Amino acid sequence: MTIYQNLIAGEWVGAEASENISPSNTGDVVGLYATGNAEDTKAAIAAAKAAFPAWARSGILERHAILKKTADEILARKEELGKLLAREEGKILPEAIGEVTRAAQIFDFFAGEALRLTGEIVPSARPGITVDITREPIGVVGIITPWNFPIAIPAWKIAPALCYGNTVVFKPAELVPGCAWAIVDILHRAGLPKGVLNLVMGRGSVVGQAMLDSKDLSGITFTGSTGTGKRVALASIEHNRKFQLEMGGKNPMIVLDDADLSVAVEAAANSGFFSTGQRCTASSRLIVTEGIHDKFVAALTEKLKTLNVDDALKAGTHIGPVVDERQLKQDTDYIEIGQKEGAKLAFGGELVKRDTPGFYLQPTLFTEANNDMRISREEIFGPVVSVIRAKDYDEALVIANDTPFGLSAGIATTSLKYASHFKRNSEAGMVMVNLPTAGVDFHVPFGGRKASSFGPREQGKYAAEFFTVVKTAYTLP
Ligand code: NDP
Repeated sequence: MTIYQNLIAGEWVGAEASENISPSNTGDVVGLYATGNAEDTKAAIAAAKAAFPAWARSGILERHAILKKTADEILARKEELGKLLAREEGKILPEAIGEVTRAAQIFDFFAGEALRLTGEIVPSARPGITVDITREPIGVVGIITPWNFPIAIPAWKIAPALCYGNTVVFKPAELVPGCAWAIVDILHRAGLPKGVLNLVMGRGSVVGQAMLDSKDLSGITFTGSTGTGKRVALASIEHNRKFQLEMGGKNPMIVLDDADLSVAVEAAANSGFFSTGQRCTASSRLIVTEGIHDKFVAALTEKLKTLNVDDALKAGTHIGPVVDERQLKQDTDYIEIGQKEGAKLAFGGELVKRDTPGFYLQPTLFTEANNDMRISREEIFGPVVSVIRAKDYDEALVIANDTPFGLSAGIATTSLKYASHFKRNSEAGMVMVNLPTAGVDFHVPFGGRKASSFGPREQGKYAAEFFTVVKTAYTLP
């Protein structure tokens, strides 16, 4: 098998490799991908540093053309790349193709942003002097991404980094090197100068740690777990660099008595269980008021019975496998914890066997949960959802906000009064009314509060806050 290598200083390098295994079929090797080490990481950072001065001054038409070409190729290859994504991560094919499409839209958006760079000229407080306010790239940016969105998250970090004139060292999650390699290959062939974008695949504790330890990264943008996020933060403070963290969630969705039952059930099923519940925006706490509680649980349980858990590439599959054995153990451990804590296992909870050996778990619903249980407070990151009863909207809101996290939050209601109140009073970065808590647009800000996020928002024009630094210049003509 050929090795998909790392890209360092414009050259494909690396002889050490590990197998990329499909979670739908552990006998299916997606490919052999290079595993970089600390020396490779240092070389990549040095290459990005050398490439920075020229790229920072590159023309906007060059940046636009490369980003646009990348968007076009990703879109043209969406079926093939979607298949690769579904195969290596376990997301079902339609979701995977959707994610690839989103990656293309993100590159397209930032291709446009390259042409829309602006500054401000304002009069000084002192007559005769002008002040101009401009944005400059920050330098070499380290990008560290998780496994659950193997192409969209790299896209929403790489595209703005390059658009605003930064150079990049990119370390994808070890479980999903395939999409990372593909996107870097496309950008490389689209004409990026040597060293502007470097790919170092490999272990977090090796490659990621070498990035954290480097003095030469001006910023690190990270998405992943809260634990690793803290390490990024501490190391970045040590090295006086900018950092941006997107981390976990324990997203609530409130269902009020006046909700349209089918809208509420569809939103809960989608955001709790689709993508195998492996979305940071998944709603894992359903907070349901008394009057609709039993009807809602019955209807959601009926819906869960119709969802097929199977191979991500098979037509008719609604929920693919869990990403790997470690995550599966985490999910089943929490299912045991939930039962011991006294929640009622209303549906699922069992591993399932399919034609191929994979990490298949039934969608799992707990009822009679309360908000103090570990299953309600800690991120499980699997297809495991708890229903918590609430007396009324006021109590539901308190429960929704009583969490260390604050990424996304939803409400199902036909009442404008409650929808408006919730939009104002939810302590989450993103609020959804009659919609799943997961599933966001590519051109508007993404991010959370509390332990879910730190630093400026990602995506859309808000991305400039992290990937640029503002300069204020005074001129006496
Ligand atoms: P991890 O924190 O384990 O990994 C994230 C990335 O960090 C991976 O590339 C990993 O590499 C790397 N890493 C691991 N250890 C280190 C280290 N010591 N130094 C530097 N980098 C390191 O998270 P997961 O990949 O398991 O992703 C799941 C988590 O991500 C969930 O908690 C989820 O909520 C969160 N997430 C948050 C999102 C958000 O936007 N808020 C979006 C998506 C996920 P490797 O994998 O090779 O070990």
